[in-house]
This record gives sequence, structure tokens and C-alpha cells, in this order.
Amino acid sequence: MRDKEIFALIEEEKTRQTTGIELIASENYASPEVISAMGSILTNKYAEGLPGKRYYGGCEVVDKIEQLAIDRLCKLFGATWANVQPHSGAQANAAVFLACLNAGDKILGFDLSHGGHLTHGSPVNFSGKLYEAHFYGVNKETGRIDYDQLEKIAKKERPKLIICGASAYSRDWDYQRIRKIANEVEALVLADISHPAGMIATKLLNDPLDFCHIVTTTTHKTLRGPRGGVIMMRDNIKNPFGLRWKNGNLKSMGALLDAAVFPGIQGGPLERVIGAKAVAFNEAMSTQYSDYMKRVKSNAKIMSELLIEKGYDIISGGTDNHCMLIDLRSKNINGKDAEEILGKVDITVNKNMVPFDTESPFVTSGIRIGTAAITSRGIHSEMIPQIVSMIDRSLMNSTNEKSLSDIKSEIHETMSPLPLFQW
Ligand SMILES: *Cc1c(COP(=O)(O)O)cnc(C)c1O
Repeated sequence: MRDKEIFALIEEEKTRQTTGIELIASENYASPEVISAMGSILTNKYAEGLPGKRYYGGCEVVDKIEQLAIDRLCKLFGATWANVQPHSGAQANAAVFLACLNAGDKILGFDLSHGGHLTHGSPVNFSGKLYEAHFYGVNKETGRIDYDQLEKIAKKERPKLIICGASAYSRDWDYQRIRKIANEVEALVLADISHPAGMIATKLLNDPLDFCHIVTTTTHKTLRGPRGGVIMMRDNIKNPFGLRWKNGNLKSMGALLDAAVFPGIQGGPLERVIGAKAVAFNEAMSTQYSDYMKRVKSNAKIMSELLIEKGYDIISGGTDNHCMLIDLRSKNINGKDAEEILGKVDITVNKNMVPFDTESPFVTSGIRIGTAAITSRGIHSEMIPQIVSMIDRSLMNSTNEKSLSDIKSEIHETMSPLPLFQW
């Protein structure tokens, strides 16, 4: 049997991924080895439970695989405890909430409309429905996290959990300051490093494990592994708050988190994905990956500088990581139209709310772009001016079909020779 329809569509998607410019900040191209592990016979195995403590027989091999994934992740981030089973970043966060909070408890997260994530308290997400969510944002002038506001709200509301981390924020975080505030109000701190995880692992950004009780991340963004999530802790963080939060002392926090993942919110783990995570963590410890992260960072920096030269308004005026948020109001284009126009020339981006946005979430005033994916394809700094020019020409000639089709051909010519993944 051969499913012609699906495999033809996979080829079609491969062509799309090959010919276009992928600037969605949360996307990347996984290595052939990561994809091979993900597509392996490990999918056949049920393994509810943890390595050495399963509810199924025949787990001796997947036990070794999952233990390797845990050990490699701990080594990569200098963590001492990890759970590699969450099916996604959202699941990792759900497990943390379930372990640390009771329904109705207060949480304090980064405002979605300023760059935060749905799972940090949005009313459409479980995190906003089951818990009482409060938010901090960025300073209107600087575009950077307003830590004074965070402190003020924390002191007023005394949340049980403070969440830092973002989906569209181009600056590094002051984890030390957040921990200090958390200590004063006796809150736990969760750092969700889904976007910049690869840069944190390679020490290009501040280390959240130094100060945050719990760290979650996706494995498929800058980390360049399979689609999935993980939870980590470093044991030098001790719980100073006694019984204020749900379940007592931090010594058992690992057990609480394990139980929250399974049986709390998930059934059997995806061992093929866990195998692929282990492959990706190993790759991320290589000097090639470290060089890759440095190129992602410098490509983003160059891109933001060139966009600013062309009159684009980058929130916070630049980037410390792989991404940037562009406020298009100065160019009289909204995010939805920009996404559509760039889509016509096969540049993929996503529309995004900008802080203090005047448009609805369906329209938005901005777009978010990132350089993790194009850098995996081998795009180096000398090619960034051409890409910026193609973005600018498309947006400035959006009604000229001929010029859009010329740009599209230029993009296909530039991208088609590049492999999907290149060390
Ligand atoms: C992407 C992202 C997530 C969710 O990841 P999924 O795998 O899509 O569930 C969670 N938090 C942040 C900050 C993210 O950027």
C-alpha cells in the first residue's frame, strides 16, 4: 500500500519549504537525524510512566533512550532534573501549572499583546480560564519589559506564580530582578524559554536556571529538535515559602511535575519524539551548533539594523536574540496585509500584535520575524541585505503584480539551491 495522496502532499510541502524564505520566528529546520528518529519504529511502543518505573512491559530499550534524553538535556542546560515527555510547549506549561497551583490561584505573566504567550494567562487558554491571570507589559517608550510595573503588580496581587518568557520579545530578560521580586511576594518563578532556548544553551543570553525555580521550553524553535516540550530545574533553588504554594517543599517538586505530566495531563509518551529530542540535545552541545546560534544572532542583528535604515520601526529598537517585532504603522500597512503580501512572494512571516496596538488581533499592526530557520538553510550575513531588500520591495510595491512576481522568482532562485538543513 502506498498513500499516494499524502506522500504527494509531503513532497509539495517540501517544495514549499525549499523554495521560499522562512522568517516565522518559531520555526526551524530539524536535521536529517532528528527527523529520522522521529519517523522511527519507536512510535510502536507504549511507555506510560518514567524510565525504570513503567506501566508496560518491554520498556528496557526505550528506558535507555528516555534516560539519555534526560541526561543530555541536563548537561546541555546545567540542570539537575528534567522531564522530557511533554508533547508540546503548551503541555509543559500546563504540567507546571497543575503541579504548582490550585484552580483560582493568581498568576502573573507577560501580556500576550506585548509579546507573551497564550499559555501565560490568556482568557482563551486554560491558563486564563482556570487561574486568575494578571499581566505586566513593556514600557511604551523603551519597548522593554517594565520591571517596575511587574514589581508593582506582584506586590499588589501576590501571585503564586510569576511567568517570564515570550513569543515575540527581542530582548534578554533580567531573571535576577524577577526572582528578587518573587522572593518578596513568596511566588514561584517559571521561565518559559521556548523561543531563545538555543541561545541560552550556548550562553549567548542570560541563564534563567540561575534564578528561576522551573524552566520550560519547546524543543523545535531555536533548539532545532522535534516538535515537543520539556521541563527542567536546577537544584540550587530551594523553596523558601513553606506551604504557601500548593504542595509543600521543593524536594518533591520533581515528583510533582512528573505526576502532573503523567498521569496529570498526558497518556503515553512519544518515545520516537523523545529519541529525536535526545539527538537534538546532543547536536546542541556541538561547536557547530554553537556557531549556528552565533550566526542566528548576528543575522538577526544585521536584519534589524537594515530594516531600521529603511524606516521600519523595530520594537525596542533592535534585538538581542533571533527575533524582532516590526511595528508597521509608520509604513501605513497592517500586519494582516503585510503577511499576505509577503506570502505572495513566498516570504513566510506572521502578523503579530505590537505593544499598545490599535488594531484587533486578527488584523494587528505588526509582523514578527526571526532568523533561526533561514540560518539553518545556510543563509549567511552577506545575504541578509538582499533579503531585507526583498521584504521592503514587496511591501512597497504591493499592488504591482509584475514586481511581486519578479521578486518571487528572485527568491526561488536564491533559495532552491540551498538544502533544507545545513550544518
Ligand atoms: C511556542 C511557545 C509555546 C508553545 O509551544 P507549542 O509547542 O506550540 O505548544 C509556549 N510558550 C512560548 C513562550 C512559546 O513561544
